Amino acid sequence: MATINENFLKLQAGYLFPEVSRRARAYQEENPGAKIISLGIGDVTQPLPPVIIEAMKKAVDDMASADTFHGYGPEQGYDFLIDAIIENDYNSRGVDLDRSEVFVSDGAKCDTSNILDIFGLDNVVAITDPSYPVYVDSNVIAGRTGEANEKGQFEKIVYMPCTAENDFIPELPSSPVDIIYLCFPNNPTGAVATKEVLSKWIEFARERKAVILFDAAYEAFITKPDIPHSIYEVDGAKDVAIEFRSFSKTAGFTGVRCAFAVVPKQLKAAGPDGKSVGVNPLWSRRHSTKFNGASYVSQAGAAAVYTPEGKKQTRRIIDIYMSNANLIRGSLAKLGYEVYGGVNAPYIWLKTLDGMSSWNFFDRVLQNANIVGTPGAGFGPAGQGYFRLTAFATEANVKEAMERFSGV
Ligand SMILES: *Cc1c(COP(=O)(O)O)cnc(C)c1O
Repeated sequence: MATINENFLKLQAGYLFPEVSRRARAYQEENPGAKIISLGIGDVTQPLPPVIIEAMKKAVDDMASADTFHGYGPEQGYDFLIDAIIENDYNSRGVDLDRSEVFVSDGAKCDTSNILDIFGLDNVVAITDPSYPVYVDSNVIAGRTGEANEKGQFEKIVYMPCTAENDFIPELPSSPVDIIYLCFPNNPTGAVATKEVLSKWIEFARERKAVILFDAAYEAFITKPDIPHSIYEVDGAKDVAIEFRSFSKTAGFTGVRCAFAVVPKQLKAAGPDGKSVGVNPLWSRRHSTKFNGASYVSQAGAAAVYTPEGKKQTRRIIDIYMSNANLIRGSLAKLGYEVYGGVNAPYIWLKTLDGMSSWNFFDRVLQNANIVGTPGAGFGPAGQGYFRLTAFATEANVKEAMERFSGV
């Protein structure tokens, strides 16, 4: 009889967002008249900008004729997109990259979990608490952890608490770690890292010969000029860091699917004899073995993001979200809430009222204001007592939600 990967049985039941939807649905059924506003799940709501739609339509037309048809493309992505990425996202910020260091994919969610394939199971993994749930769960599935304890934390993972006390910037681990997940601007806290903070982590990783997995999915939401958009803007990062980016939040591609990872050629990890091995060729091998490239239509759409019109149109959408974020931040602060994030990220992270647990506060906000948010505890135990609201809504909904919030 076939056997299963038993690591799946270690995963904690009741994944965060299904439970959020279940409670919202149950409330709606009991209160059919309630007009629920969702500021919960992190998905964009604005339609794709016209220049991207045009580029994708043209790409579809290309598929209709034998001489412009595209079958399998290069696994690593089309040069037209890779060159646009390097020029606009990196060269413009003083970072040089070779085409072979950029890997186009169909999502940063898959990239941040698939990357684990190329690292040994004996690596000790450090993850911020709270964090994007994918980092923990994909390490559990890979078999890099023991069982979960009563707090839902897995044996062998080094958790790095991020709370108001440390401004949501994790302390350097005091025990040995080999792989470190950092996400800035952060989901869920909205915190950002300065060059000084990233420098400290890079130095730490260089000393320990550790690898940093840097998730920059929200870099486009940075509004302060002194905050780095890429970890490679900081000296020494190419020796230790892999960076993940996505068009999902930047350009509304959550339903289109296009992202990329940067794996510098100089990044090394230890082989069986302790000798250093280049990580880039391993990721290239993994990528071309298990992946056949993001679709031509998606990549054509992504390339349009970098045209002058594309930059303007995507910026306009991000500005809508960030104006929502500003409104949420301001309104909640006026109501006396302790609020974080929302300045360089589409997420607002707030302390619950009266020290309530995250889920109790979720129920209270749902019942008293008919607003769905996300309980901070769902992102990790250090998120207990916090609550996340997202700016991915229409301005009208955000306005109404903020009026209702006074009744929470
Ligand atoms: C939304 C998000 C991503 C992007 O995932 P895609 O698979 O590219 O849609 C990556 N990391 C974080 C932290 C996110 O919130």
